[in-house]
Amino acid sequence: MFDDDRFIEWLEDNLDFTARTSRTEWHFTCPFCGGSEFYVNVVSGKWLCFHERNCGRRSQNPAVLVSEVDGSTVEAARAFLLGEEEAVSQKKIDAFLDNEYAQVAQPAQAATVSLSGQEAGVNLYGMEYLAPGSNRLHNICVEHILGRGFDCNWFMQNYAPLVGTQGRMSNRLILPHWRDGFVIFYQGRLVVDDSSTEDFEPPKYLNPKNEEQKIPRRHLLWNENRLLNPGSVLVVTEGIFKAIAFEKLGYSCVATYGSMVSEEQRRQLIFSSPDAVVLAPDRGELDPGLQRSTGMRTFYDLWREKLAKPMVSAGRRVLMIVPPEHGDYDEVESQCLLDCMSAARPITSKFSI
Ligand SMILES: [Zn+2]
Repeated sequence: MFDDDRFIEWLEDNLDFTARTSRTEWHFTCPFCGGSEFYVNVVSGKWLCFHERNCGRRSQNPAVLVSEVDGSTVEAARAFLLGEEEAVSQKKIDAFLDNEYAQVAQPAQAATVSLSGQEAGVNLYGMEYLAPGSNRLHNICVEHILGRGFDCNWFMQNYAPLVGTQGRMSNRLILPHWRDGFVIFYQGRLVVDDSSTEDFEPPKYLNPKNEEQKIPRRHLLWNENRLLNPGSVLVVTEGIFKAIAFEKLGYSCVATYGSMVSEEQRRQLIFSSPDAVVLAPDRGELDPGLQRSTGMRTFYDLWREKLAKPMVSAGRRVLMIVPPEHGDYDEVESQCLLDCMSAARPITSKFSI
């Protein structure tokens, strides 16, 4: 539960108090639409705007209110309400803006492409290059990157992320799939949860609509430039942030955009020529539908049979790692990833003697 003194103090500092109908039920001017009937239960944390026609914003979660008004993430607002360290990420952002960003040029990849001319790529309407300090949304994206333990300059220079400002990609940090200076695919990670009703949860990751996908994602490996010059080890993960977690440790890494691996993706991995490919599938069991259709129980089994063994048969050296018990690759400490890597198991083809 949250610290209600802290919440009340925050309400008094940030909203315009109008009335109190009981000890717990307070009224304010709505911070979203300016309507006069914005109700907050200061003990339960539930809040809502009675101006249905205007905004109708509501949630059971006080952290959502704090994050929306403060322009922080819900996690940071929650930490604030719980009385944990105050605004850590804001301090990190300020330090970043003051000390580091001034020294960085635009990302190298970004310099070669214009966002308006996307003839060879996907439609990037309403997206901007990540430009820390330019507005609240950009800073929330910076906060998200820093919050995941990445150096923001490094992240920008390597992946040239975008910020979705309009339409279905609004409030998302966009991770582009670059090819020849164009964005040919992307995933948008939600960084501001703007769901105004309790029963609608927007997906964390969103892809371009099917009709916008000039190249379907099953044909793509994110970070495909790494295939050209992979070095000694190439790591393969399902998700982009998991790939970036390994790249932070100095490995070249690509991501498959999901647990199913296509013929085309397998072919690209076979034609790439690192000394070894390390497969890092997700943890856990496939859902029942996939178990039936693939005949496999876990993600590990699926990747061993559908990806590792065919690659070994084609003459590649393949190892697999078992995901950490206590979190995904992008959630655990670096040391834990290094431990996973050093425990990687070589895969031998079932056809070999
Ligand atoms: Zn309102």
